[in-house]
Amino acid sequence: MEWVLKLEAKSGWGEVETIEVGRLERRVVGLTAEEVGLTLSEGKGLLGELARLVLQTQMEEFATCARVCRDCMKLRRRRDNRTRKIQTLFGTITVDAPRISVCPCQNDWGFVDVSLSPLADLLPDRCTPALRRLQAELSARHSYREAARLLSTLLPCDPMSHATMRNRTHRVAADLERKPITQPGPEPVIDPAAEIVVLIDGAHIRAAHGYQSRHLDVTVGKIEVSGKPPRRFALAPRGAESPMATLRQALRDQGWQPGRAVTVLSDGEAALPGLVRAAVGEPTTCILDWWHISMRVQHIEQALRGIYALDPRHRAGLEMVEWRIGRLRHLIWNGYHEEAHDELFGMRHMASEVAYVNGDTFRPAVARLLWNCDDLRRYLANNTGSLIDYGERYRSKRPISTSRAEGCVDEIANARMAKKQRMSWSPQGAHRVAVVRAAVLDGRLRPEANGLLAA
Ligand SMILES: [Zn+2]
Repeated sequence: MEWVLKLEAKSGWGEVETIEVGRLERRVVGLTAEEVGLTLSEGKGLLGELARLVLQTQMEEFATCARVCRDCMKLRRRRDNRTRKIQTLFGTITVDAPRISVCPCQNDWGFVDVSLSPLADLLPDRCTPALRRLQAELSARHSYREAARLLSTLLPCDPMSHATMRNRTHRVAADLERKPITQPGPEPVIDPAAEIVVLIDGAHIRAAHGYQSRHLDVTVGKIEVSGKPPRRFALAPRGAESPMATLRQALRDQGWQPGRAVTVLSDGEAALPGLVRAAVGEPTTCILDWWHISMRVQHIEQALRGIYALDPRHRAGLEMVEWRIGRLRHLIWNGYHEEAHDELFGMRHMASEVAYVNGDTFRPAVARLLWNCDDLRRYLANNTGSLIDYGERYRSKRPISTSRAEGCVDEIANARMAKKQRMSWSPQGAHRVAVVRAAVLDGRLRPEANGLLAA
């Protein structure tokens, strides 16, 4: 059996041309499983040929129309017949890209022949935005080499080097940072009184040789406002042109304007809320993440259990542990932070006595408990200003934990840049991949996020 694929091209002025795209043949007798339907290579071949014919005829018409002077409606002179190679999703395609002389009605330079190239203006870097976007998206999800391999496996585009993938990703990141992103469709109505919450966290990735330190910081997070989907952001402070501008842009997308209050939830590392404060240019409300406190309380609980487990006669004491831990949690949760300090001292005292009465076998377990109590005490003392009445905030259904920002660390930094991936990063490279990855996860890289990548 034989199939003939034909393309009917109808120009803007009604001219119809039929062009053969390709042929397929299959035997009927002795058909093998491999020959059933369209194979990947045939599909890629046909798609590549179809894309070539469409683009070439489209560019012919475009070049013809571009010759008409918009002022006097006369046909401008075709100066020469150059060609230009354009990289597309479906292969590198050579198209006519004639240069056109500037119309005499526009030429203020007298006898000098000035020319212009409409196609060069349309695609200055010889690459379609769709290809660039896909290259960036794949590169944000996989290593550059793997992304290049995936692309040429599935599409009839030419094999690309990892350097090309990297450069295109960097270009898309630069576009993302430069251009204000407008959301498609009508702007959602945001309650001007709604709280803007920034959940922020950090990750460390391996730095490439020659960048002073062995590790690079990547800051990631989410900005939540009720009534809008959360907006992720990611940046490498050392690689960003202006970390504050990147953050401010993300805040603006979520409806922030100068003068509007911002609440920052973080794990207590002072630099992170400081970055938000610098970006908004005024004081912010800082809240210490509940999850990190809760984890430390849990460590104390485990240490206490460890002590009682050493001697079965102390089983009854376990109830006491439950009670004391419950009380400690309750005190911190409801904002009785001084009482929580006293409770911690009480536990410390009790543990020291246990060690004193029972001797050496208890010493390591007690030391562990003491260390965990001191750790929580230090943690609370260092963040006194960011402790709140968590219970009250929780009951009013406002976020108290950065667990969603932790999710961001996994999604953005760990999945693509983690140390175990054996990749090392330059500050700028890390920043740009992080920016693109956050945009990909938010769906901000889709063509509907209009105007985003129009060169
Ligand atoms: Zn003219």
